[in-house]
Amino acid sequence: MSDIKRTELKELGEFGLIDRLSNKVKITNASTLKGIGDDAAVLESGDLLTLVTTDMLVEGVHFDLGFTPLKHLGYKAVAVNVSDIAAMNGTPTQITVSMALSNRFSVEAIEELYEGILQACENYKVDLVGGDTTSSVSGLILSVTAIGTATKDTVVYRHTAAPKDIICVSGDLGGAYVGLQVLAREKQVYLANPDMQPELSEREYVVRRQLKPEARMDIIHDLREAGVIPTSMIDVSDGLASELLHICTRSGTGAVVLESKIPVDSETGFTADEFKLDATTCALNGGEDYELLFTVRPEDYEKIKNHADISAIGVVKEKKDGIFLLTNAGNTHPITAQGWVHF
Ligand code: ADP
Ligand code: MG
Repeated sequence: MSDIKRTELKELGEFGLIDRLSNKVKITNASTLKGIGDDAAVLESGDLLTLVTTDMLVEGVHFDLGFTPLKHLGYKAVAVNVSDIAAMNGTPTQITVSMALSNRFSVEAIEELYEGILQACENYKVDLVGGDTTSSVSGLILSVTAIGTATKDTVVYRHTAAPKDIICVSGDLGGAYVGLQVLAREKQVYLANPDMQPELSEREYVVRRQLKPEARMDIIHDLREAGVIPTSMIDVSDGLASELLHICTRSGTGAVVLESKIPVDSETGFTADEFKLDATTCALNGGEDYELLFTVRPEDYEKIKNHADISAIGVVKEKKDGIFLLTNAGNTHPITAQGWVHF
C-alpha cells in the first residue's frame, strides 16, 4: 500500500487546482506585475504594459464538430482570447495559434478553420505571429495566446472593486447557453433522421451567441470615449455568478445583484422557457457569453448610464454584507461558488 495521498481532480475543481498550483509559483522578475489570477498576465515593458492570455479549446469538451462549423470555431478561439485582453481594459495586438490535429481532418478543413481565425484577426486588428502544429490521437485541440497592451493608468484588474461601486454588464446574458441547448437538440433530431434540415432560423440569435461570440472591444472603446476607467473588470466566460464571485473574493467585497436588472434577450427568454430552463439561471450559471462584467464609481456611472448596451445590475457591498441576488419575488439568495439555483 502506498501512503502517497491521491486527491481527485474533482475534489478541487478547476479554480481549486489553479489556486493550489499557483501557491507554489514564485515570481522572480520585477517586470511581472501580475501573474496568475486575472484575465491576463500584466508585464512591464518600458512605458507600456504587455498583456498575455491563453485559452485552449478541446474537441468534445468545448466544442462538438457535429454542429460547430470550423470557420466559426476559428473565429471563436480568437474572440475568447481578445475578450480576456478587453477585460484588462487593454488593446489586443498579436496572437499565436497552436493546434493538435488528427488525420481525420483534411487540409481544406484546416483552411476553413483558418478562415475564421483570420477573419477575427481582421475584425479585432490583431496579427497572427506564430504558433505550433502537432498531431493528436483524439481530435482537435486549439490553443490561442493573445498579446495586448495597456497603460499603468488604465489597466483594470479583478481585485480593485470597492463598496458603493455600480456593477455593470455589457450586452445580454444566458444566450450562449440556451443556444447550445438548441444546437444539441437539433443534432439529436439530425442523428435520428439525417434528411431533416435543422430548424434554426427562429433561434438565430442564441445560436450565434454560442457559435460566434464577439469580444466586446466596442465597449472598451466606448468606455474610453466616455472617460470612464472601471474599478474592476472580468469577462463573462463561466457565467455571471462565477465572475461576480471572482471580482468580490479578489476585491474583498460583497455585492447585491438585482434579478430584474440582469439583461436577457427576448429570444433567450422564450427559448429558455421552451427548454423548461430558468433564464436567470442561464445568465448566472450558463457562461460563454463573453460580455464584460465591470464596476464603476457612482460618479462615473453617470457618464455611461444612457449607453444602450450597458446595464447596471447591482452594487458592490462590504464583505460582511455577503454576495447575493435580490430576486423578482423579493427574496434574497446567496450567490455561491456552485452557482445559484432557482428555487
Ligand atoms: P479566464 O476565464 O479569464 O480565461 P481562467 O479561469 O482560465 O481565466 O484562469 C484564471 C487564472 O489562472 C489566469 O490567470 C490563468 O492564466 C491562470 N491559469 C489557468 N490555468 C493555469 C495553469 N495550468 N498554470 C498556470 N496558470 C494557470
Ligand atoms: Mg476571462
